[in-house]
Amino acid sequence: MNRHLRRAAAKTYVLAGVVVLVGGLAAWRLFTKGSSIEDAAPDDADSAVAFVCEGCNQQFDMTLRQIDDAQRRNDYDSDAQTRMMKYRCPKCNERKGVRGKRCPAHGDVVKLAPGPNDPRKCSKCDFPKGQAP
Ligand SMILES: [Zn+2]
Ligand SMILES: [Zn+2]
Repeated sequence: MNRHLRRAAAKTYVLAGVVVLVGGLAAWRLFTKGSSIEDAAPDDADSAVAFVCEGCNQQFDMTLRQIDDAQRRNDYDSDAQTRMMKYRCPKCNERKGVRGKRCPAHGDVVKLAPGPNDPRKCSKCDFPKGQAP
């Protein structure tokens, strides 16, 4: 093998190494982040946001990923007055779920923007105490 061929062979090895590295990285990102390589939002309980349905009063959680997906699909409404986004309720299937805060002690979800007839605090304690109406 002359010197030129040896150098070319070395180049090929380096190239193959880079390909394996990039391919492995892509596979790893696919594996750890689900089906999407792009900036996927977290899909765990820690990122869950509480919602209350204005139609059937169902209280439910959505992870940031689910919210992200709903926004990508354009599967939400926004309230004409508060400009709050409303997401599809898993119970009545209407886009009437509005953002709320879940009482860490009792699990009640209080709307972030309660209407005149909505509870402004948890049914069993003062959560979220001190928040402006
Ligand atoms: Zn509902
Ligand atoms: Zn409470």
